[in-house]
Amino acid sequence: KAYTATEIKKIVEEENVQFLRLMFTDINGMLKNVEVPVDQIDKVLNHKVMFDGSSIDGFVRIEESDMILIPDLSTFLIFPWGSEHGKVARLICDVFTTDGEPFMGDPRNNLRRIISEMEAAGFTEFDIGPEPEFFLFKLDANNKPTLDLNDDGSYFDFAPLDLGENCRRDIVLELEKMGFEVEASHHEVAPGQHEIDFKYSDAVEAADNIQTFKLVVRSVARKHGLHATFMPKPLEAIAGSGMHINMSLGTANGNAFYDEKTDDKLSPTAKHFLAGLMTHARALTAINNPTVNSYKRLVPGFEAPVYVAWSGHNRSPLIRVPQARGLSTRLELRSVDPSANPYLAIGSILAAGLDGLKNELEAPEPVDRNIYGMTSEERHEAHISDLPSTLHNALKTLAKDDVIKASLGPHLYQSFMDSKRMEWESYRQTVSDWEREQYLSL
Ligand code: ADP
Ligand code: MG
Ligand code: MG
Ligand code: MG
Ligand code: MG
Repeated sequence: KAYTATEIKKIVEEENVQFLRLMFTDINGMLKNVEVPVDQIDKVLNHKVMFDGSSIDGFVRIEESDMILIPDLSTFLIFPWGSEHGKVARLICDVFTTDGEPFMGDPRNNLRRIISEMEAAGFTEFDIGPEPEFFLFKLDANNKPTLDLNDDGSYFDFAPLDLGENCRRDIVLELEKMGFEVEASHHEVAPGQHEIDFKYSDAVEAADNIQTFKLVVRSVARKHGLHATFMPKPLEAIAGSGMHINMSLGTANGNAFYDEKTDDKLSPTAKHFLAGLMTHARALTAINNPTVNSYKRLVPGFEAPVYVAWSGHNRSPLIRVPQARGLSTRLELRSVDPSANPYLAIGSILAAGLDGLKNELEAPEPVDRNIYGMTSEERHEAHISDLPSTLHNALKTLAKDDVIKASLGPHLYQSFMDSKRMEWESYRQTVSDWEREQYLSL
């Protein structure tokens, strides 16, 4: 909603809000916040709130550390759960330098930059409908997460099998109080696993929503004595958690992916965009699947994509074009997982698609057969490549893709690479239980 500063001050007073939470996201997708008491509201609205950027992952060096938080007034929201000290409202902020420039280490600013490239290409929106999945684990007596799932239900099961149902229903109610339009919520394939789908929105708002969604899911789960995790593959023998990204471009005339005059009712725009996603799919993986653990999900056998292919019919490929047309004409990228920074992921996906449009890239033929049943020779003949199999390989692929590198900009690219290479090195040097089981007898 488009609030003015005056309206926000009025609501804050009428509703007796006691604290303002100023939120932004670091490079790893972690939501950060600076909380100020309500008597500081003028400072907030007049862009006088500063913080030390050097304490935030991927932000800046010590010598240039002062940053300004510019609240995006349209994100004003009072949290429906109270605190014992009164109501808390949040504002999502853009991070600016003390020179008054958007700080390019801020993932939200970076997404806006790519949106403006999209606008220059003649589009008005990039609509995103995410399908985040998560697990609910029981907490132990000390409120520490265990690996005990809270139910043994499976896809679309009903209570009493689905003990997560009450918790999930509470999550949905809280989300709706916060303005989310929840389209569906259901038990997922794995025990203890859930999915909640909310209505698509324009890119920046969709990324904000994903961040808010995670916060709500975690807090409500806690109240039910549960730990919600967005870790992509918490248990090896069962399905992992993805976050399919449904997307379409819009113009003043509506959905630019829809064309009633073509055979498949997809516009040339949709096809070039699809081709851009296919071309850059491997490099995008580093951003969409940014943890060591992400690659334990991208394996055959659990409905997660492993190969670069698209289809209008089956659900196993990297990109699916759902049958729906008209307003719902969309591409679904199925590799993304919920550990991704949504601002970076959506921005890079958009940049990949725009590159397909700019260079009029041609999409390869769809693959409507079961790719998992094909031999590697058959895949090779059909020009189907593999997604990177580790974070290390994904980072190497990203380093070679100038379009996706540019989608992060030099600052974010450097901090992303530094941070992820460190993560990989630390993992690489760890000796796991698996190794001891395999090799201790040597
Ligand atoms: P699936 O069939 O893959 O399980 P869901 O029904 O769970 O899909 O989710 C579909 C998502 O796609 C929803 O978030 C919905 O709002 C979104 N969506 C619908 N139309 C569009 C569109 N034109 N652009 C982007 N997202 C869309
Ligand atoms: Mg779904
Ligand atoms: Mg579904
Ligand atoms: Mg699902
Ligand atoms: Mg889906």
